[in-house]
Amino acid sequence: MVMLVDVPRMTAWIRDTGAERIIADIAARLEADYARWPQFDKVERIAAHSPIGVIELMPIADADRYGFKYVNGHPANPARGLQTVTAFGAYADVHTGYPLLIAEMTLLTALRTAATSAMVAKRLARPDSQVMALIGNGSQSEFQAMGMRSALGISSLRIWDTDPAAMDKIERNLVPQGFTIYRATSAEDACRGADVITTATADKALAQIVADAWVKPGMHLNAIGGDCPGKTELDTAILDRASVFVEYEPQTRIEGEIQHVPANFPVTEMWRVITGEAPGRRNSAEITVFDSVGFALEDLTALAHVADAVEGTAYAGQIDLVASPDDPRDLFGMIATSTEASFAEPTVGRIHAA
Ligand code: NAD
Repeated sequence: MVMLVDVPRMTAWIRDTGAERIIADIAARLEADYARWPQFDKVERIAAHSPIGVIELMPIADADRYGFKYVNGHPANPARGLQTVTAFGAYADVHTGYPLLIAEMTLLTALRTAATSAMVAKRLARPDSQVMALIGNGSQSEFQAMGMRSALGISSLRIWDTDPAAMDKIERNLVPQGFTIYRATSAEDACRGADVITTATADKALAQIVADAWVKPGMHLNAIGGDCPGKTELDTAILDRASVFVEYEPQTRIEGEIQHVPANFPVTEMWRVITGEAPGRRNSAEITVFDSVGFALEDLTALAHVADAVEGTAYAGQIDLVASPDDPRDLFGMIATSTEASFAEPTVGRIHAA
């Protein structure tokens, strides 16, 4: 049997444990994994692009564990009642090749992306940061706010979204969580006086969500929405004034804000900062940019965390996913000896065909 954490179980685990607590736990675990970066077998994610979206496979392994995530990015989906990003993934034992865990990863991606933002902000944002601009108030946004609060203690938000309904939604979700929220009148207004700017917009376009003129000395930019060729959020003039940090450079060169700059544009991989090989923020006037695209290691860490946290609890279900004949070489015989119909009638799923 393989451990299963499906949507109801994942939702219950997050509700009972607390999203912010899980984000902080994953961030701590991520630091430990980023510190042993050379031990991982890394590759850029494999992307299947269409004119309106992308489907990606994100594999990674170390000597003991293997993981992959299937994830999509379809910015036009909300307009047809679907989410921009959905995901599921698997976590496996390298020594047997058997899967250990199958998990929903739409929620888990939001948690791990916030945990990554938190881990990075601890090294790159000014420690006295108090105000966060949050531009793009969709699915990732509340998790991002919680990540910054867990890393820096920020509870004052300046929010902006082109869709007022998204601003209503984030207010509804975060005011009860103790956040103070200012509804900005534009992206520029949101950035005014902010110490940290998080951009989490979704548009398959070379957008300019933040203009160079709005970026003041000492700001930290956490740009998570530009994560695909042809899909970016920052005025490139910002990059020229900033120190730019990335997850896995070969992937970010393809997908991140730095897809616009020459291949020799200097960036620092975050693992070097975590291990102390490279500096993070150097002074209070420096502008720092985390050009986040999302890397497979973050998913492996999150899957490992879920597996450890829920094993042996009611949040861990089981799925009979691996055919296991009594004689491991008699796979065919398993078909003939199966007598009873021990499976439930499949529920008829709704296919969201475009
Ligand atoms: P979402 O569709 O739920 O939310 C995006 C929001 O951005 C929407 O509310 C939309 O109205 C708003 N928006 C679009 N254009 C805007 C603009 N010009 N100005 C202000 N707001 C604008 O998407 P989501 O799940 O929250 O994801 C946000 C982005 O983050 C996506 O692009 C996604 O691909 C990316 N993402 C990155 C990572 C990572 O690891 N870096 C992880 C998950 C998602």
